[in-house]
Amino acid sequence: MTSVLERSTLLKSQAFVGGAWVDADDGATFPVYDPATGERIADVPRFGANETRRAIEAANAALPAWRAKTGKERAALVRRWYELIVEHTEELAHIMTLEQGKPLAEARGEIAMGAGYVEWNAEEAKRIYGDTIPTLANDRRMVVVKQPIGVCVGITPWNFPHAMVTRKASPAIAAGCTFVLKPAEQTPLSALAVAALAEMAGLPAGVFNVVTGDATDAPVIGEEMTSNPIVRKLGFTGSTAVGKLLMAQCARTVKKVSLELGGNAPFIVFDDADVDAAVNGAMAAKFRNAGQVCVSPNRLFVQSGIHDAFVQRLAERVRTLRTGNGFEDGVQIGPLIEDQGFAKVVEHVDDACAHGARLVTGGASKLGGTFFEPTVLTNVNATMRLSHEETFGPVAAIASFKTEAEVIATANDTPYGLASYFYSRDIGRVWRVAEALETGMVGINTPMLANEAIPFGGVKESGIGREGSKYGIEEWTEIKYLCFGGL
Ligand code: ADP
Repeated sequence: MTSVLERSTLLKSQAFVGGAWVDADDGATFPVYDPATGERIADVPRFGANETRRAIEAANAALPAWRAKTGKERAALVRRWYELIVEHTEELAHIMTLEQGKPLAEARGEIAMGAGYVEWNAEEAKRIYGDTIPTLANDRRMVVVKQPIGVCVGITPWNFPHAMVTRKASPAIAAGCTFVLKPAEQTPLSALAVAALAEMAGLPAGVFNVVTGDATDAPVIGEEMTSNPIVRKLGFTGSTAVGKLLMAQCARTVKKVSLELGGNAPFIVFDDADVDAAVNGAMAAKFRNAGQVCVSPNRLFVQSGIHDAFVQRLAERVRTLRTGNGFEDGVQIGPLIEDQGFAKVVEHVDDACAHGARLVTGGASKLGGTFFEPTVLTNVNATMRLSHEETFGPVAAIASFKTEAEVIATANDTPYGLASYFYSRDIGRVWRVAEALETGMVGINTPMLANEAIPFGGVKESGIGREGSKYGIEEWTEIKYLCFGGL
């Protein structure tokens, strides 16, 4: 434990329901581990259907008063939540590195990003505008208002244990909904810390609730969340397989869904690109969070004229990256979250090499555990598993290509459509390729996509809906049409 963690009042090991810190009915708990050391760091309640139902009922009880507040009143409380998150950045970042493993500097960055969503949505709470529709009959007037959906639930992943929570809960709550969150079993502590700050900010009891459970509890909690008729919407970030399951479950009571699912992002470098900028971009996009990012480039395509120069410069940079415990100064690549994730990365690299890929640098780390050295592979082709499945590790898999048409076809040849990136200095090509890529987001000569001001989300099997921006908050509102007659 670092001294910051020893002093922290935000390290909670109970769930948060109706404004109270609570245990499971039978007192059962599950362990949370530090992925860098394998040490057990906390024991957190194992909730089942009954506890989850009570959390939903607590959110329902809080709904009338919360919904009745003006946007400005809600904005003030959500803004206070934001300020407290910022003030507690250091504690929140330490909690994240402890349970998730990412380097401390990256954890601080994630808190800033996550807080940005809370700030943005506090501001947007005041700007949920309706419409007046020009009438088609003089004795009538037609008006559209937007209302909060009601009780909403969220299920979030472990790779961004803070920002995925605030990106769902803050727009819903700012819009006037109440919320029940189930964080990932690997990283519940970051979510519970956000709940502690919501309590400190004075969000009324029941407006934000956190239910916890292990991997075997997740389907039970998910079943209650998706079958309970009180719940009107589910926001989910995670795998495409679980997203499809939850969407099917929500269909039974026609709940709205926002889904942010898997990706298979292409990163394309054309001959006319600034190679140094492209290498910088690939480093930033690929190796953040050890590649455990849904918008991380999974496939790198480099045009044949600059392929060798790009590979050489990228490999030089990759060899300088330091792998280790995220609390150590200068570490840029932390451990992978767990054995299963590590095994998948190993399998993908082995399978690629068996099908003709060349390992330029990297491989499993001498550090043992789930540490994997940042890796560069070349000669990658479509027969390899890593061309079709999200590797979710620090592996830059590079294929060479010849023409623009060929690379667009290959880039789009996937059921996923979250993010894509390309580097080119030809203005005509920039427009053509940006319009042709079948993804919800495109980074053009830049690796950085996500912030609170933009609509984050995917097309195809990468998801439904957008998070962040003016579009994001609307996902948590219903349109209601009012027709005034007899004028
Ligand atoms: P990942 O591969 O990133 O762990 P998952 O989709 O398995 O992605 O997990 C994302 C979130 O979904 C986690 O909070 C996890 O507990 C939850 N989850 C997994 N399976 C289910 C399920 N059947 N019902 C509800 N939630 C689930």
